[in-house]
Amino acid sequence: MDRRKALVVGSGIAGLSTALRLVRRGYEVEIVEKNSRAGGRMNIIEKDGFTFDTGPTFFSMSYEFAELAADINKELPFELRELDPLYTVWYDEPGKRYTVYKDLEKLAKEFEKVEPAFREKMEAYLKSTGRLYYDTESLIIKNNFDSMMHYVSTLFKVPVVHLPKLFRTFWKEVSRYFESDDVREILSLVSFFLGGTPFDTPSVFTMLSFTEFVHDGYYNVNGGMYKIVEGFVKMLEANGVKIHYGNEIVNIETNGMGLQSLVDQNNKRWASDIFVVNSDAALFRGKVLKRKKYTEEKLDRKKWTMAPFTVYLGIDQKLPELKMHNYFLRGNFKEYSDKIYKNQASLEQAYYYVNVVSRLNRDAAPEGKESVFILCPVPDLRYKSDWSDREKIADAIIADLSRRTGYDLSDKIISKTILSPIDWRDTFNLHRGSGLGLGHNMMQMGYLRPSNRDEKFENLFYTGSSTLPGTGIPMAIISSKLVTERIEKQYGLILTDLH
Ligand SMILES: Cc1cc2nc3c(=O)[nH]c(=O)nc-3n(C[C@H](O)[C@H](O)[C@H](O)COP(=O)(O)OP(=O)(O)OC[C@H]3O[C@@H](n4cnc5c(N)ncnc54)[C@H](O)[C@@H]3O)c2cc1C
Repeated sequence: MDRRKALVVGSGIAGLSTALRLVRRGYEVEIVEKNSRAGGRMNIIEKDGFTFDTGPTFFSMSYEFAELAADINKELPFELRELDPLYTVWYDEPGKRYTVYKDLEKLAKEFEKVEPAFREKMEAYLKSTGRLYYDTESLIIKNNFDSMMHYVSTLFKVPVVHLPKLFRTFWKEVSRYFESDDVREILSLVSFFLGGTPFDTPSVFTMLSFTEFVHDGYYNVNGGMYKIVEGFVKMLEANGVKIHYGNEIVNIETNGMGLQSLVDQNNKRWASDIFVVNSDAALFRGKVLKRKKYTEEKLDRKKWTMAPFTVYLGIDQKLPELKMHNYFLRGNFKEYSDKIYKNQASLEQAYYYVNVVSRLNRDAAPEGKESVFILCPVPDLRYKSDWSDREKIADAIIADLSRRTGYDLSDKIISKTILSPIDWRDTFNLHRGSGLGLGHNMMQMGYLRPSNRDEKFENLFYTGSSTLPGTGIPMAIISSKLVTERIEKQYGLILTDLH
């Protein structure tokens, strides 16, 4: 039997994982990538002797990597490191700071002054979110839906006890268990990881609290997140997979019935039997396939996750007061959350996240120095198109960080890089600079999310954030599993051992 050829468009984490699974199933795989380096949003910046993780800095559900390793019958080519404490939350009031532990005993101590009986309440909350997780994991999260009927009938299999969660927000659900605003705010920070806020994220996502605190915490990778990409690329190359960098797919060629080849910006044709698109599943359908359902105006009407504003700093001193992962909040959580999405809040008084990359990955900064990454979720380009104030915003965040940590960073910055939503859009083809792809409201989940199987071409598939099941690293891995199941079902497999 001839080996079928599969062309993967994009070398993000979903594209690389899909390529590995397809090689294992006997496909001859090639990858075309627009940029000069693999990894997509999970990338690195190397500058002035410092190294920074560009996007993701930690992840949950590490067992999805274990599932991928088992599927391809290989050891993971990187080492995971579990985090505990998970992160630190800094408030604006002097001295008000919480360390968030996975260990409930320690966590209860942090909140004992603001939330009496925290432990009992947290156990009840985690029991409910855990039940939701187990009741939906294989039914909804890890399922391909073939029709609306299939999706609806599957939803009906979810126990009715979870039904009210469909009609509540994340914030409402958390508020049912906890009285303290500090606790509510901290537990609902995870909704920002989905690119939304607790006030617009459906409460079904409180199941992420379960993955965060119980099953199975947060992880980093020894040597930095990019070790994942390097490891996967090495594995693919050892198995004959070529990644063609600097090739952006901009068009298609059909023979009337099926998709024959994809066409890059230099008019080069890339023929294949099967195509798997890791570029944004909604944007690709609009921009490259020119589908009417995905015109720019229609894409703009969808709910997109917030855009990233990121700053990468090389600091000429150590910053021991800062933990590896730190959130900086203020006293106006609800007001800020309500306003930020549509550019109605001042970015000079922003909420932001700081990652000290060199804390775990010592090679990321020269001796005695620190490598710092700042991420501020901001309005996408629909709501704020002009980012000529990028320096001003970055300076305001750095001044705020100096004031709140007590480190005067003004004359300690020896390397500085700023990426605005415009950079994120242009580098990775992200619609309006949205950082995590399509949002996660009820109208953009399950069968209602752009499918991982094309509507017209039976040899065209999708993997990654804006298709099933959703955004974030573990979801990208699950996405590679779901699309591979579809391909295997349609085209078969010849199990092959990877080198
Ligand atoms: C600032 C930031 C911080 C984040 N932090 C976290 C975190 O801490 N934890 C977490 O779990 N998740 C995090 N995420 C989300 C996570 O990065 C993404 O969900 C995940 O990396 C997406 O992977 P992907 O493969 O779907 O897409 P991508 O990484 O976007 O990969 C798609 C690839 O396709 C290429 N491409 C696009 N169009 C074309 C084309 N037409 N032709 C050829 N190539 C093309 C792109 O260049 C890219 O390499 C973060 C995201 C951002 C932006």
